[in-house]
Amino acid sequence: MARCPTCEKEVETSVKEWDLGKTHVKQYECCGKKFREYVKMIYELRR
Ligand SMILES: [Zn+2]
Repeated sequence: MARCPTCEKEVETSVKEWDLGKTHVKQYECCGKKFREYVKMIYELRR
């Protein structure tokens, strides 16, 4: 969940998600604008 920077409404559903290194990126859309939330991954990949 992320807060829209324009109307400050909480947007529950992300339109797109992907991993960027150790960060999980969630993209949201509201008010015709796209904004992102970055979530640091707390686990590490083990061999
Ligand atoms: Zn909005």
